[in-house]
Amino acid sequence: MLAAKVFGKEDLRLVEVERPVLSKDSTEVIVKVKAAGICGSDIHIYHGENPFATLPRVIGHEFVGEVVEIGNKVSGLEVGDHIVIEPITYCGKCYACRQGMPNVCKELKVSGVHVDGGMQEYVKIDAKQAHKIDKKVPWTTAVLAEPYTIAGNATTRGKVELGKTVLIQGAGTIGQLILRMAKAKGASVMITDVLDSRLEFAKLNGADKVVNVLNSDVGEKLNEWTNYEKANVVIDAACTRQTFENCFEYASIAGAIVPLGMSEEPSQIAQKPIMQKQLTIYGSRLQAYQFAPVIKAIEEGLLTDEGIVTQTFSIHDIQDAINLINKEPDKVRKAVITF
Ligand code: MN
Repeated sequence: MLAAKVFGKEDLRLVEVERPVLSKDSTEVIVKVKAAGICGSDIHIYHGENPFATLPRVIGHEFVGEVVEIGNKVSGLEVGDHIVIEPITYCGKCYACRQGMPNVCKELKVSGVHVDGGMQEYVKIDAKQAHKIDKKVPWTTAVLAEPYTIAGNATTRGKVELGKTVLIQGAGTIGQLILRMAKAKGASVMITDVLDSRLEFAKLNGADKVVNVLNSDVGEKLNEWTNYEKANVVIDAACTRQTFENCFEYASIAGAIVPLGMSEEPSQIAQKPIMQKQLTIYGSRLQAYQFAPVIKAIEEGLLTDEGIVTQTFSIHDIQDAINLINKEPDKVRKAVITF
């Protein structure tokens, strides 16, 4: 069977590998992969810029498929089930797991990063990683479940809810999914970016206010919009040093900040706003316990793929997909590999 494997910096090859087999008395299942989304973090691995990844590696952590074989210790799954794969495994015992944060488990393993991922025709996973989804949901919609869980985690951590004002910095793909999630949770949302095209799309996704930071002062717009209260929750999906530092200015009293970046560049943040406004800064990595609610929302049509999946490619053309993302990133919201 075919697998898309990164061997080194900008060295992606389609290789023939053995189809996985179940061991005796297994808690695992074998899944025929139907669709896999390409994420910014896959591109980082391709460019040798993901410090967590070990090579060679079959990339892909956003994948869905059909159950084709089941270990004899598995219950609750049947051959033919459509599933979304939760791309993490964890120990369940360490401090983070006991705190309800398996997403930062000390033994955390992420598919497509620490273990082989979804860009292959068949994959073996633990049954615990399988989340059933209604067969009526198209594969190219189901494949957005994982990116939506990232939005689910960020908004859960920041306690986004009805009656709160939320500022999202950055209207790229994740920013747009966070916007949809925040609107689904009943919040009022302002979103910023440097590209009008992205802000136009944000309006379609329910943004209450859009601001282009190149020709407007966000602080002023925020004051007008909130009558000087500022944003109750600031989510940084642009992840530059500047947008991170801005969070502390744009947050309201008693506000929350959710930075999503992974840059190692230090920032200059004064202590005063944190103390004076009693701010809470929530880290948000991957997701915890978000698959069930996200899948339910997708099945109910509350979260859609409308306008998000911009291209699909066969696994044979994965290099073309990556080249397109590299050369024309603004033409790609989410490229999906289909099998
Ligand atoms: Mn992703």
